[in-house]
Amino acid sequence: MKNCIFCKIIKGRTNEGFAYEDNDLVVFNDIAPIAPIHLLIIPKKHIEGIQAVEKEDGRILGKMLLIARKIADKRKLKGYKLFINCGKLAGQKVFHLHLHLVGGWKNSKEYRKLTLGKRW
Ligand code: 5GP
Ligand code: ZN
Repeated sequence: MKNCIFCKIIKGRTNEGFAYEDNDLVVFNDIAPIAPIHLLIIPKKHIEGIQAVEKEDGRILGKMLLIARKIADKRKLKGYKLFINCGKLAGQKVFHLHLHLVGGWKNSKEYRKLTLGKRW
């Protein structure tokens, strides 16, 4: 999709480094993190969001969750959040499907301090 920032990043038109890449997905750091670790898991296929997924996208949707789990395990995250904003009203700003992976808090005190009032 021509004017899509995530399509541009996926095609390497920016200097974004990828934490993970395969034939279907890329993963990179969110530009405005809301936690010590804030990654975006993104299908290479331009899909506007959950509201636009089709039956054939089921495999990629499953893979997004599995890769999120794999990355969380690799980084030894004890607790983390996975979320997808679906539609403008719910805070979706980039209309190319992406799964947020946030975590990296040291303990529950830091979790409470850093997550209070954050955007989810
Ligand atoms: P949404 O609000 O659509 O669920 O999330 C979009 C996310 O993409 C936001 O957390 C925002 O910080 C992130 N983002 C927007 N533009 C860029 C960009 O150019 N590079 C990166 N790495 N993240 C971006
Ligand atoms: Zn796109």
